[in-house]
Amino acid sequence: MPLLVMKFGGTSVANLDRIRRAAKRVGVEVAKGYDVIVIVSAMSGKTNELVGWVNETSPLYDAREYDAVVSSGEIVTAGLMALTLQEMDVPARSWQGWQVPLRTNSAHSQARIEEIGTEAINAKFGEGMRVAVVAGFQGISPEGRVTTLGRGGSDTTAVAFAAAFGAERCDIYTDVDGVYTTDPRICDKARKLDKIAYEEMLELASLGAKVLQTRSVELAMRYKVKLRVLSSFEEQSDEAGTLVCDEEEIMESNVVNGVAYSRDEAKLTCLSVADRPGIAATIFTCLSDAGVNVDMIVQNISEDGRTDMTFSCPTDQVKRAEVALNGCKDKGDLNFGELVADTGVAKVSVVGIGMRSQSGVAAKMFRVLSDEGVNIKVITTSEIKISVLIDRKYMELAVQALHDAFELDKAS
Ligand code: ADP
Ligand code: ASP
Ligand code: MG
Repeated sequence: MPLLVMKFGGTSVANLDRIRRAAKRVGVEVAKGYDVIVIVSAMSGKTNELVGWVNETSPLYDAREYDAVVSSGEIVTAGLMALTLQEMDVPARSWQGWQVPLRTNSAHSQARIEEIGTEAINAKFGEGMRVAVVAGFQGISPEGRVTTLGRGGSDTTAVAFAAAFGAERCDIYTDVDGVYTTDPRICDKARKLDKIAYEEMLELASLGAKVLQTRSVELAMRYKVKLRVLSSFEEQSDEAGTLVCDEEEIMESNVVNGVAYSRDEAKLTCLSVADRPGIAATIFTCLSDAGVNVDMIVQNISEDGRTDMTFSCPTDQVKRAEVALNGCKDKGDLNFGELVADTGVAKVSVVGIGMRSQSGVAAKMFRVLSDEGVNIKVITTSEIKISVLIDRKYMELAVQALHDAFELDKAS
């Protein structure tokens, strides 16, 4: 039988009615003759609640226990989805990550998938099961403990299953009807794209567009998975939504194709660090050992042999970073004057493969921000993106102004 992977995000399984609606969508594909692997998220808000409980119990939590707690949301929806399908007379069975098994490395809370066992599920398909409902976001470590794949990780579960089982397509059902030029929730001129190149989607995702988890796009690109994003709230045709595909399949493209933002950024500066070889290595080894995900890095010009080292990381890792760096200082491994944290910043980025061959994009971006009175704190660039760190209160204004200036509401 041909096989489809269908993933339903949190809002698509937010209550029993929505689970029923999603199950009906699955039933349509089963009736067409597909076997289906359904990947489910936790009910919307559930994972946030679980993360909140963990933080309240233990601010510098043990990541193994974090995973034990936050993986539970998906277990509930997987069972409920299987029951709903059974009520519709569709032969279905639920699977938790360890039962599949979906094997990951031991990087708790950010684990990477290493292998998916296909035998057990395929054997059940062979016995007449039509739908395998799999709890997204979770796996099992080599030590036999439950792991999770990072926030938004059910997207990655879905793409990994599509690759492992050779699915015809991987459909990601969510609360918007596709990938837009920017988040339609903060910019009403955002335009839905029919197609987007893997590379652009990868940048947008890694820069904060949470419609797909970054790792899911990486996997789709590597294994050439036909990946589609579409709404679980509308009737769907085979052409609905946005197809994430090779650059060659897209005829026309703007220089800038999308604007992304990331709200929960923090900027930390180690003031007056000794400017000598090895100091950056010491700072960033200390941060990485503490599990801090550093993003942007800037080192100032040094004066009298001292310099300032600035970096950004997610707001919820600031405490971890402070404890780690101050610990390093107390041990005498590192010497700096003061550690200053600014937790009120956001990152705004413009993305487009057209930037490879077009100059002036950075200049235009900075001009637009300056015209809006927005001060830029940190800048980073790559071949196809430019990112700036700005005060969070200007984030939406910046996104809208850039969307207008690069005329993203118009197709090329
Ligand atoms: P799910 O729970 O289905 O996984 P998510 O909340 O993770 O859904 O992702 C969908 C959300 O992503 C949308 O509601 C939208 O606000 C946000 N989003 C951010 N950037 C974009 C974009 N460029 N296109 C579409 N949605 C976007
Ligand atoms: N429930 C998890 C989260 O909220 C995984 C997912 O929905 O993709 O991050
Ligand atoms: Mg998501």
